[in-house]
Amino acid sequence: MHNQDQKLIFEVSTPGRVGYSLPEMDVPEADVAALLPEGYLREEEPLLPEVSELDIMRHYTSLSRRNHGVDSGFYPLGSCTMKYNPKINENVARYNGFAHIHPLQDESSVQGALELLYDLQQHLKEITGMDEVTLQPAAGAHGEWTGLMMIRAYHEANGDLKRTKVIVPDSAHGTNPASATVAGLETVTVKSNEDGLVDLEDLRRVVGEDTAALMLTNPNTLGLFEENIVEIAEIVHEAGGKVYYDGANLNAVLSKARPGDMGFDVVHLNLHKTFTGPHGGGGPGSGPVGVKADLIPFLPRPVIAKRGDEYVLDYDRPQSIGRVKPYYGNFGINVRAYTYIRSMGPDGLKAVTEYAVLNANYMMRRLAEYYDLPFDRHCKHEFVLSGRRQKKLGVRTLDIAKRLLDFGFHPPTIYFPLNVEECIMIEPTETESKETLDSFIDIMIQIAKEAEENPEIVQEAPHTTVVGRLDETTAARKPVLRYQNA
Ligand SMILES: *Cc1c(COP(=O)(O)O)cnc(C)c1O
Repeated sequence: MHNQDQKLIFEVSTPGRVGYSLPEMDVPEADVAALLPEGYLREEEPLLPEVSELDIMRHYTSLSRRNHGVDSGFYPLGSCTMKYNPKINENVARYNGFAHIHPLQDESSVQGALELLYDLQQHLKEITGMDEVTLQPAAGAHGEWTGLMMIRAYHEANGDLKRTKVIVPDSAHGTNPASATVAGLETVTVKSNEDGLVDLEDLRRVVGEDTAALMLTNPNTLGLFEENIVEIAEIVHEAGGKVYYDGANLNAVLSKARPGDMGFDVVHLNLHKTFTGPHGGGGPGSGPVGVKADLIPFLPRPVIAKRGDEYVLDYDRPQSIGRVKPYYGNFGINVRAYTYIRSMGPDGLKAVTEYAVLNANYMMRRLAEYYDLPFDRHCKHEFVLSGRRQKKLGVRTLDIAKRLLDFGFHPPTIYFPLNVEECIMIEPTETESKETLDSFIDIMIQIAKEAEENPEIVQEAPHTTVVGRLDETTAARKPVLRYQNA
């Protein structure tokens, strides 16, 4: 299947070859040097591959065949919600009226686009139980930061300047403490108890007059529902803090429960996860943020509002934290999410949650015989296993993940959350058939048996991929080793 000698695009490059043909210029050439400030002009030509259109099409088609995506195979990446991206979303996002409008067009000429965004806000308010929503943030982490900046602005507006701490559980997604830091706040950790839930005693210990907010995912990153959530919210509210819901993965509560009803003041959603936007590879995403009434004045501006029959961009928001993204956020992803919500309807969204949770529990129970189950209780949309039994046999969780590649599966999330040894975090999503779930389970069982009988085959995996094990640190730090100075 694979062409073993995949070349780099720079190796295909031939001096002078071009992938375009433009007509002769019939206007005077611009004097670029006169247009750009001194110091911004290149001294040398950039190093770009010189290829024909056919070369480049073949190059990317060949690369895409080596890639693993939701459209090519099962992708049970816990906490990432790699669910199927319905193709109707793509059709709608490509309508000329959406795809070809210019972000600087006058409001009166983009009423349809604004109506869609406004309606999407209404749906997200209904889904989250919040009073207002902004669609500006471009990703989950960006939404977290936006929400925390609003909380900060709220405390500052109340003259409550000592509230500088954000409490996060030890199982939190890494973006939570990172966003707190970027928002100029400090992170304090609250411990999980032996059931994998927030330890209330520890929460009472860390909460106080300096608490700006508690950030929580519910169900948490272990896939477990924080059943004391109402009490948790009360503890934080009594201390004067706000409660932030990391709603990146809404698959376990969508249309069943609402963060707004659980006591949360702010929530961000990942439209590129729960609401079927394609993601991975860095974007584009959409991380809308919903807030309760007392935080509305601080929303990023402009706010998309409706005046009579007209949709407008409201800039008159004196307490706003300002703009967090140019134009309208990642409009195309918002169109896809809107299409998804409208095509599913309330019953469809309820079914999403039911199947997501059923699929996860089915897999968890079948795999629990072969892998350690650190928290033996019903899970929500995802669950964690521990590879510590296999580790005693000399097979690490990393080896298991690599072995899965031999069978065409994208591995689950591993070594996260950090509070579980040799963690394997599986999120099947609702869109996979029982046959797919079973074939993955069967391979996981086979790998558990290999770890006992023939550990080398797991330790040395993958065997069937184009490249074997990568030096992942170097690959991340120096993505291009050769041709840097060609
Ligand atoms: C994915 C995720 C995020 C971050 O979202 P990005 O869009 O990648 O920035 C935050 N929290 C949780 C729980 C997530 O799963």
